[in-house]
Formats: sequence, structure tokens, C-alpha cells
Amino acid sequence: MIQIHKFGGGILRDADGYLRAAQRLTQSGPGQVAVVSALYGVTDELDRAARNSSANHVDEFSRQLLQRHMSLIEPIASADVQKDASAALVQKINRLTKILYGIQLLEELTPRTLDLVHSFGERLSAIVLDAHVRNSGMLCRAWMSDQAGLLTNAAFGNAAPMMDACRENLRKNLLPDAVAGAVVFTGYFGQNADGHVTTLGRGGSDYSAGLVANCLDAEKLWVWKDVDGFMSADPKVVPSARLLSDLSYDEAEELGYFGAKILHPKTMAPLREKRIPAEIRNIRTPEKPGTVISVEGRQIHAVAKSVAIKKDACLVSLNGGALGSLSGTAYPLFEQLRQHDLPIDAMASSQADLTLCFEAKYLPLFQTCLASVNGHIAPPTVEKDVAVLGLVGEGMRRHVGTSGKLFSCLAKAGVNIRMISQGASEINITVGIARGDVDKALKAVHAEFIE
Ligand code: ASP
Ligand code: MG
Repeated sequence: MIQIHKFGGGILRDADGYLRAAQRLTQSGPGQVAVVSALYGVTDELDRAARNSSANHVDEFSRQLLQRHMSLIEPIASADVQKDASAALVQKINRLTKILYGIQLLEELTPRTLDLVHSFGERLSAIVLDAHVRNSGMLCRAWMSDQAGLLTNAAFGNAAPMMDACRENLRKNLLPDAVAGAVVFTGYFGQNADGHVTTLGRGGSDYSAGLVANCLDAEKLWVWKDVDGFMSADPKVVPSARLLSDLSYDEAEELGYFGAKILHPKTMAPLREKRIPAEIRNIRTPEKPGTVISVEGRQIHAVAKSVAIKKDACLVSLNGGALGSLSGTAYPLFEQLRQHDLPIDAMASSQADLTLCFEAKYLPLFQTCLASVNGHIAPPTVEKDVAVLGLVGEGMRRHVGTSGKLFSCLAKAGVNIRMISQGASEINITVGIARGDVDKALKAVHAEFIE
């Protein structure tokens, strides 16, 4: 059986990080597939290099990037392995340098080229991890996800996988090498049918790990982090917050959308489809159980498991006749929001009002969307300095009166609720509150539902 291991940039910061990652693979015996992110911070740096590439910048940037990756393979004892890896790194950096020069000469950076540049972080990182694994005597092969056949559509910057083709290609290419020992696979990108590199969106290598697990029918996905797992609340605000041992796929997804920086919410769909469990573990204490995400996670009896918060939100209300009929105004508005990729966190509506809650940084974009909707819409009422609090747990499906309890608990704490939204799935209740009330709201809700 195949096991997938995800190593993110958060733990791949130096040679020690790669060493620890390699140990996770070598201690598990054959059948391991590692999905890697770029070395910490490198995707951001590649992004900047692509956007402002001037001649001397390119050379200096490439030189430093190569040097940093070379230092990661310095501790490798085997001269052969080190030589191979350094040749592979040089070859990648040479190609990247040419691409950056190309951008500079053409004075043009298309989304397609940006994706290609972004992919180099993962490519370099995979070469480094592969070298560390082979250095310890395990058979290993680094596979670039475009060559392995992770096929996607052509939505550069936010590509979606073509699952049938991925399954066929990844099984054919990765399985023989994985069965023999280990495979290191680049997260975050794939390629479209024309052979152009596409990325799955920032933070997308978690999603890659879910896709690989699905395609290879893996037994389990291990997610290695520098924290133990999901928490019942932010421990900086709520000292009594505790580690969550079990979550369902839906709960983990919901918490991911709330900004829990543990596992990208998109990762859940491919796992859920094949009922593959995921386990978060702290790479510094690998024996210590973390959070398990599985089908069984939903059976754990608790009304709510976690209270999450998003701080920088705003509320926008469109009201009265301005909104008109749904088909007249709301549908075209939503179409605009979709076209501009504006993520809505929560929504509440009545006959005459529609209130949308989203991150405040999207306000200008929202105004653009609104302006391009034909017909007359009165200026919306905008409330800034809003925070979104979400109470998450499958247990709510079975318990009566959770919302009532939440509202009265917030009222008792002196927190004014500005918006309420509860999904039909009933695994979360979301309320909009003033940002200044966040700490007392979190403490009160955690004490009421979780402690
Ligand atoms: N390296 C990519 C990023 O920084 C993908 C990932 O780390 O998940 O967005
Ligand atoms: Mg990441």
C-alpha cells in the first residue's frame, strides 16, 4: 500500500528540515510518495523576480537561488548523490534564468509564463529532498509533476485537475518507483493538454497531495507540520484551547476556509471521495498523535469542535428596491464576483436585503463588480472593522438549539451580532461581529461549547 507524505514550505526552511523530511520516508520502508512545496519563501521570491526582472536582477537572483539550494545539499555524505543533485539544480536554474531573461526582453509577463516561473520552487525543492533520501540508502526518484502527467485545464494560476487522465498517468509513472522505495513529487503545479505548466493556486501543494493520494488509492496522507494539528481555538487568545484529535472532512474543510493554516481546504474533496484518512503530525515529535481527518471523525460526540475567527472582514448590504428581483440584479452581481474571483465568506438575505461578508481587502474589487452590473443599484451600506466568527462541528446536525445558545452566550458577553449565517449542511454557524469584540467573543464561545 502507498502512503503519501506532504512536506510544506513551513518545515522546509533549511538543510535540517529536508533531513527530517527524508527521515520520515526512510523510516517507513518502501511505498512512500512525498509531495513537496518550495523551500520556505521561494515562491514569493520567484513571483517578485518575474514581475520586476531587470538584467542585473536576473543574474543576481539566479546566483543566490542556486547558492541557497546548494547549501541544502552540502551535508550530504555520498559524493555521487551530491554531484547528481548539484548538476540537476544547475540545470534547472539555467533554464529559469533564460525564462527570466525572456520576460525582460519581451517586456511581457503572461499568466502562463508566471505559472512556469512559479513552478521552479517545487522543482528545486524536490531535487534536494530526493538527494537526502538517496543519501540514506533508500531507492528514490524525483518526479516533476508536469512530466509525470498531472493534467489540468488551462486556467493559469488556479488550474483544475483532469482526474481521469491524472489517475492513468500517475499510476503508470509513479507506482513502479514508489513500490521500489520512494518518490518525491513536486506539489503545486501540473500541465495543460498543450504541455504548458499550470499552477493549482497559491498554497496548492496540499491539494496536489490530496490528488496524488486519490489517484494512487493511497492508504493514508501524512501531513507534516511544525504544529501538532488543528486546535479548538487560537491558543494565543484562548489559553485553554486544545488539540483536536479527530475531524471529519467537512469540518477540516470548513476550518481551512476560515484560515486555519494547517491544510488547504481544497485537499479534502479528493480524500473524501476515496475515504482516505489524513493525519497531521508535528515533524519534531513524529510519534505524538496529531489531528486525524477521516470518515469516523464525524462520529465524535460534541456539539462543536472549534471556534474560528477571520479578523479583517467587512459587511456590505444591498437593500430595498435597489436590489430588485433576484434575476434582475443579484444574479448578474454574482456572475461578476465569480469572474473576478472574489471569495464571499458568508451571506444573509431577506426579501429586501442582501448582506455579503468578505475580506475587507476585496472592497475595491467589489465596487468594480458592482459598477459593471447593469441597472440601477443604490450605493451599498458598508461596515468595516468586522470579524467573522465561526462555530464548527458535525454535532450541530443532531443538537437542537445551538444557534440560540450561541446568540445568548455572545449577548451575555456583551458582543453585538451584526450578521448571522448558517449553512444548510449545519456544520457551522457564522456570525459577523465588531473586530474589537473578537477576544471576548472567542473566550465566551469556547467556554460555552468546548470547555
Ligand atoms: N509553493 C507554493 C506556494 O507558496 C505552493 C505551496 O507551498 O503549497 O504557494
Ligand atoms: Mg503550503
